[in-house]
Amino acid sequence: MVSVRAVAAAACVAAAETLYERVRKGDVTKNDAMFLVKNPHLLFRIADELRRAACGDVVTYIVNRNINFTNVCIGSCKFCAFRRKTGEGYLLGIEEVINKIAEAVERGAVEVCIQGGLHPDFCIEDYCEILERIKENFDVHIHAFSPMEVKHAADNSKLGIEDVLKELKAAGLDSMPGTAAEILVDKVRHEICPKKLRTEEWVKIIKAAHRIGIPTTATMMFGHVETAAHRIEHLFLIRRIQQETKGFTEFIPLPFMPKNNELGRMIGGRAPSFFECAVVHALARVVLHGLCDNIQASWVKLTPKGAKKMLDFGANDLGGTLMEENISKAAGATSGEYMSPEALERLIREAGRIPRKRNTLYELL
Ligand code: SF4
Repeated sequence: MVSVRAVAAAACVAAAETLYERVRKGDVTKNDAMFLVKNPHLLFRIADELRRAACGDVVTYIVNRNINFTNVCIGSCKFCAFRRKTGEGYLLGIEEVINKIAEAVERGAVEVCIQGGLHPDFCIEDYCEILERIKENFDVHIHAFSPMEVKHAADNSKLGIEDVLKELKAAGLDSMPGTAAEILVDKVRHEICPKKLRTEEWVKIIKAAHRIGIPTTATMMFGHVETAAHRIEHLFLIRRIQQETKGFTEFIPLPFMPKNNELGRMIGGRAPSFFECAVVHALARVVLHGLCDNIQASWVKLTPKGAKKMLDFGANDLGGTLMEENISKAAGATSGEYMSPEALERLIREAGRIPRKRNTLYELL
């Protein structure tokens, strides 16, 4: 006689196989995602197989430079350790920005990533001036300004979102970071960044950018007050936007950094564990399968060793060399500000993978 346990086990195997078929075809559901969160061994196995099918053993990285042009900000995000009040912070002059980029280009950078606080005096002209002056001097891809900065430029200049995006593009903006996303569920946003743009506004800006030919990344800051259901909600929203616009180049899970900020104190200084990070990277691979091939592991947030480990949990990219990083460092990240191409390649080879340099749009160089 066949035991009940054996029948149940066979039923579970059959259910897992059906789920895997759905996922492979890109038909994953929110219930599937929740089932996988509760069955992490299955999630990890599927994510690794999907990564291999989509990207093989190649792991990419980009030679770039990060520039945070000001830390003066009128925002009040509870997770932020970077912002300063007017008079207490810094604002780089345009010549300082140009000098930093000259140094980066000299060292082989193909991208500059520019973001800053919401400076009260910054209008569209100021954002455009940065872009124009860079393009006058360098042939480099400009990846700049979060959806929150776009909204800030629109509010301060009394312009519509689409007009701001068109002006930025005309001034030289090539692509945008999909930051300021945090968790795209208003209930969570209300708790962690009540004055920041709402989910609907983030989506509106991202879709408008994609429509006028500005690709963006997508991010999710996890490991604070959100639940597994909120993470799934966020990932499926990214999935729906990508189905509509195909404008995302990559998805970057960003573990919350709890030092020197109110949100960190609220949750007792707890940072997401390695296991939580693995679950989020793997889940992103599964939910976005067939829509967005690139899942990035951030060495700044995860440490180089942690980022290397994420390559076994669905990630296929290690991001940029950066040369400078102020936002995570302020919130307790200790991994430094620069990884040389050689150090990144060594890390990738140690993981048994093949390193390849890329540009912002994931073309191999
Ligand atoms: S996260 Fe950005 S918008 Fe929010 S307070 Fe910090 S610098 Fe300002």
